[in-house]
Amino acid sequence: MAKDANEAMEAIQFPCASCGGAMLFDADSQQLKCQYCGRLQAIDSDNELPQEHALDDGMQEEADTDWGLAQQTIKCEACGGESLIPALQTATLCPFCGSPKVLSQPATANIKPESLIPFQVDRDDATAAFRAWKKKRWFLPGAFKRENTSARLSGIYIPYWTYDADTSSAYTAERGDYHYRTVTKTRVVNGKTETYTEQERYTVWHWVSGEYDRFFNDVLVPASGQYDAKLLERLGNFELGGLFGYKPDYLSGYIAERYSVNRSQGWGEAREWIGDALRSDIRAEIGGDEVRSLNIDTDYFNRTFKHLLLPVWNASYNYKSKPYRFMVNGQTGLVSGNAPRSAWKITFFAMVCLAVVGAFVWVYMDYAR
Ligand SMILES: [Zn+2]
Ligand SMILES: [Zn+2]
Repeated sequence: MAKDANEAMEAIQFPCASCGGAMLFDADSQQLKCQYCGRLQAIDSDNELPQEHALDDGMQEEADTDWGLAQQTIKCEACGGESLIPALQTATLCPFCGSPKVLSQPATANIKPESLIPFQVDRDDATAAFRAWKKKRWFLPGAFKRENTSARLSGIYIPYWTYDADTSSAYTAERGDYHYRTVTKTRVVNGKTETYTEQERYTVWHWVSGEYDRFFNDVLVPASGQYDAKLLERLGNFELGGLFGYKPDYLSGYIAERYSVNRSQGWGEAREWIGDALRSDIRAEIGGDEVRSLNIDTDYFNRTFKHLLLPVWNASYNYKSKPYRFMVNGQTGLVSGNAPRSAWKITFFAMVCLAVVGAFVWVYMDYAR
């Protein structure tokens, strides 16, 4: 804790009104808290609705890149992770993988987040969660279990885009409806030919066409270079009802990951998701038993985007030169991670199992005799 506070001292962006110490965002009180005198200061969150920004060509506005605090971008040579840290802080370790090979990047314009979920789980909670998680791992090597890894936990805001769009689609397709008819067939039974009837299904196809409009609100696309869809899934769902309008105060004491997926790439993913949703909507609207040759032509209007930050505690560690990762959802406290396994413990466990099974078999054989 002392080390983090010292690092923050180098770049006091939110000085305490009574002692001048660094105020960091405190997950317990959801306020800024002085690291020295403990003074709390409320974050005035004007209940302004997050602003959507136009994405459509021709009317694309200059994105706001003023985060309200001085930052620098650092990039890790080992994992490629890019993060935003306070301007004067000297980064020593990569928050994602723990590598010391971090380089300051030339100043880049980073689109300002529109809203975020503030950390609800603090460093102590995350550390305790990590300990409890380690304790529950049976096959963890003893040396690793005893190691104190709390200092390597980093609180990171990971980036997302959300998109809104009005869509208007024209479609054509063949709709197939099942019908049944009774057919008379013959078969040979015991050398005699007899007739019988059977229900036979056939499909009647006809062309349909139509129009379908739908508004899509807040299609969420991860923009992280460190957390792919799979990793994020393991962190569980963030409750987006807990979004607050962005204030630089929430970032005090935390790191923000710089988005690796830019807003147009993000739109590409959102559009794919929207395309799938439209396809299934339109199939349902067409009805019938089958649909084929479905062709959809969609126009998008009023496309807007927002940039969001979601909270994650991240710890990376190496054990016998293999990397492992531990994560805590900074909102819900859900824990996920992968752990090294001790080959010796697994072998021992397998031997105990075999011995138990062996004993049972022996007793049973003896009993059955
Ligand atoms: Zn103070
Ligand atoms: Zn790294």
